[in-house]
Parts: sequence; structure tokens; C-alpha cells
Amino acid sequence: MATPVISAFLDGRHVSRPELRRFEKRDPATDALIAEVEESDAGLVDEAVQAARRAARGIAAAASSDQRADWLLKIAGAIRGRFDAFVDAEVRDTGKPLSMVRGVEIPRAIATFEIFAELLRTHRDDVVVTALPEGRRAVNMTTRLPHGVVAIICPWNFPLVLAVWKIAPALACGNAVVVKPSEETPSSVALLARVIEEIELPRGLFNVVYGFGQDSAGALLAAHPGVNALTFTGETRTGEAIMAAAARGVRPVSLELGGKNAAIVFGSAELDAAIEGSARSAFLNSGQVCFGTERIYVHRPLFERFVGGLSARAAALRMGDPLDPGTTMGPLISRRHRDKVLRACAVARDEGATVHAGGQAPSMSGRLAEGAWMAPTIWTGLDESSAIVRHEVFGPCCHIAPFDDEDEAVHLANDSEYGLAAALWSRDHAQALRVSARLRAGVVWVNAWGIRDLRTPFGGLGRSGIGREGGLASLDFYSQQRNVCSLV
Ligand code: NAD
Repeated sequence: MATPVISAFLDGRHVSRPELRRFEKRDPATDALIAEVEESDAGLVDEAVQAARRAARGIAAAASSDQRADWLLKIAGAIRGRFDAFVDAEVRDTGKPLSMVRGVEIPRAIATFEIFAELLRTHRDDVVVTALPEGRRAVNMTTRLPHGVVAIICPWNFPLVLAVWKIAPALACGNAVVVKPSEETPSSVALLARVIEEIELPRGLFNVVYGFGQDSAGALLAAHPGVNALTFTGETRTGEAIMAAAARGVRPVSLELGGKNAAIVFGSAELDAAIEGSARSAFLNSGQVCFGTERIYVHRPLFERFVGGLSARAAALRMGDPLDPGTTMGPLISRRHRDKVLRACAVARDEGATVHAGGQAPSMSGRLAEGAWMAPTIWTGLDESSAIVRHEVFGPCCHIAPFDDEDEAVHLANDSEYGLAAALWSRDHAQALRVSARLRAGVVWVNAWGIRDLRTPFGGLGRSGIGREGGLASLDFYSQQRNVCSLV
């Protein structure tokens, strides 16, 4: 069978050009070639932005909020109609276990469009009446204006979920979008373009370009003066480049960046629940979760039991064919990323870490032999100044350290340049409230991890990002409020 070719989508049609460079997309579970992707050049990025500009000024500006809500619901319905194809695209691009993509990710992508459609229908503009001297009054109407064209630059760890997390509210607010998926995961957004073509969403509202970051489609899109606002999810260093690009033209920017998140397990914690939750927060999606916990601090009396329990959970994870229902852990996104995680393992070893689990690539057989597999890894014994403890590894790895009292635990957890998320495990309610208030993180989970209601604000402190998205916070980013004041 011929290798599928993925090409840009702009102004309501797919645009394939023979002169464009192509890059390969490989299945990380097997290293098999699954698609060739046409890298959008400066001309194509410009065409996509111009198409979006026409739509933003025309159809999007003219559409009522009910119409925009209908567009979102139509997209949700179209994804539902091609559910299996979306599952297939995401599993092949990422190697994630089928159950996770089928049970969580594609349903969540659908729900995102539905939730923002609902928000659009229920959201009310503000009216404030100002009493003036001599009995006169003024009526203030606070309404929202779209930005125009929003550039959406996405990472690879939850490809469709994190793209629609931005696409849905941007369209809801009356913008047109140009999306640049990660070079590692083009397929599900490519399928979204297909279904959007099929449902005949007005031309130019939704456009997709493909390529890499620097010196490629990502940087070209971020720098394009026709883009009115930028939203980005990815590494902190890339976020700095995006922010610099946004500065030109004083454009709004939302940055959802990396983390080095801590979990704290207090002495009163329900140990089994804390171990179970920490296994998820360290190893889910092979550790490639921005709010995963790579640092775990455990009250000293529980330390040995916790390390033993988490090591047993790591050993019980089953790596294997993503389509096999028994598989609970997939590969990393690429062999290149696996090399980076293995380098972190070498640093940990050199610095004297004790390795309780993993620390190396497992040996896989048959068609999985060439995949980007990495064993779940647990270290103890590193100094808090170690690069492994300070910087995001973004693999199935965590370092566990003991603490003696609450102040020390809070200090250790907060001693980071990042501030995306934290988890704490304690049956002492007063302690949980006290500590959650002291933790410097955009999201704090208490006796839980990873529950994300799309209506709540999400974002990081410090080097984990700028701005909040989710629910009303998304409306606030993807639109601009303005006030019209009329004397009556
Ligand atoms: P990345 O920064 O390498 O790439 C993200 C996107 O940016 C890709 O589409 C890439 O092509 C593009 N890009 C790279 N350089 C660019 C440039 N100079 N100009 C414009 N675009 C550029 O990130 P990644 O490796 O894809 O994703 C993993 C990172 O994302 C981790 O650090 C993770 O913590 C973070 N992340 C954060 C959140 C969050 O909500 N805070 C969510 C998911 C992932």
C-alpha cells in the first residue's frame, strides 16, 4: 500500500505541492513508516494566514454566537462519526495503548467542542447601569470581540486533545485559526481537517500547516504579522521563542509550558491510594504528561514501603502492542526522545542514584523490536541540586526523596523554577487545605491526580507558562472585552 501523504489544509481545501520538502512520520511502537508529510513553506504559511484573515473578517465576524455554537457541535458530531479512524490515527502516531485513546482521548476531544458550544450558548454579556448626577443614567455594555487570526502551535503528547483545547474556544469566540501540529503527530489533526472539509465548515475558519519549529512552519507562523494572537503548548525554551515572536506587534500570547511537578505523600496518607495515584502520575502516557509528577516526597516513616510499593507497580506495567487490550504502557514518542530520556538515566547513574526500577530500554521482540520503548524508572538518593531533580525529563521516570516535617515538604515541593501542578496525599483534611494553599502551582490535586474539568482554569506559574485556559478563562484569552457606554 502506498504511504499516505499529509498536506496542508487552507481555505477549505487540501493543498499539495510537488516542490515542498517531505518528512517521515514513523510509528513509535515499531518504527514503521506510516506517513509522509509535506512541510509547509513560507508561501503556504502565508496563504493559510491570508485565508484565515478573510474568514475572520467575513464569515466569522458576521456569525452569531448561536451559529458558532452550531459549528462546534457539527465538528463534535463529525469526530464522533469517524471515531474509529481518529482512534487509529492517534494510536499509530503515538503508540499509546488503544484503551486510553478510545476510552479517554477521543471522547475528550469531542467533549471539548461540546463544552465550548454550551458555554457560548449560556454566556451572557454584562450590562452595568451608572447613576449620574441630576438623575441621568448611562448604560455600559461589556461585550467580547474576537482577535481575528489565532495561531495554534501544538505538542505531541496529547495531539488531538491539546489541539482542540485551543481550536474550540478560538472558533467559539469568532476567530479563524491556523494550526501547526507537532511534526511528531500530524495524523489526527490531518483527519480533523478531512472531517471539517466534509462538513463544509465555512472556508478559511480552520487551516492547518505542517512542519518543524525553528526555521520551519512553526517559526514562520509565529512570526507572521497577519496573526493576531498566539497560543502555544510545549517546552519552556520554545515558549520563550514564541513569546519573543509575539512581542512584535504586541500580540496576546498564551503559553502552556513544561513542569517539574512534585507529589507529597504525608504520614497520614492512605498508602495504597498514594502509591496507585503516584504510579499514574509518574507513568501514565509513558510519563509524557506535562502535569506528571517526576519528584515525589514521602514522609520518612513511609519511605521504604512507598518505594517498594511504587516499584511493584512499575514492574506490573505491561509494555506491548498498543492494540493489545492487555497493554498498559506504550513507547516514548520517538527514538530521538528515548535517547534524551536514556541520557537522563546515565546522568542519574553517574550522580549516584539508586535505581529501583528500569533505568534502561527494555528489550522488545518481533515487530516491536525497533520501537522507542523505555522501562518505567524509579530513582532515589539524588541531591536536590541534581539536574534530574531540577529539570523535566518527560519520560516514565521519577525521583523519590524522604522528608521529616510539613515545612520541609512544602519547601522541597516549591523549590523549582516551574509551577504547573502538584499532588498531595493526606487524610488530615486541615493539613491538606493548609498545604494546598502554600504550594506554588497552577493546579493542586488533593488525594487525586490528573482530574481535569475542561471548565476550570489551567496554566502554570513561573517557567510553566503565562495565562490560563479552560472555561471562561479560555473566553478571556480568545476574545477581547470592550465596553460601550451610552447616556440614556
Ligand atoms: P516543543 O516545544 O518541542 O514543540 C511544541 C511545538 O512547537 C511543536 O509543534 C514544534 O514544532 C513547535 N516549535 C518548536 N520550536 C519552535 C519555534 N522556534 N517557533 C515556533 N514553533 C516551534 O514541545 P514538545 O516536545 O512537542 O512537547 C513537550 C513539552 O510540552 C513538554 O515540556 C511538556 O511539559 C510541554 N507540555 C505542556 C503542557 C501544558 O499544558 N503546560 C501540555 C502538554 C505538554
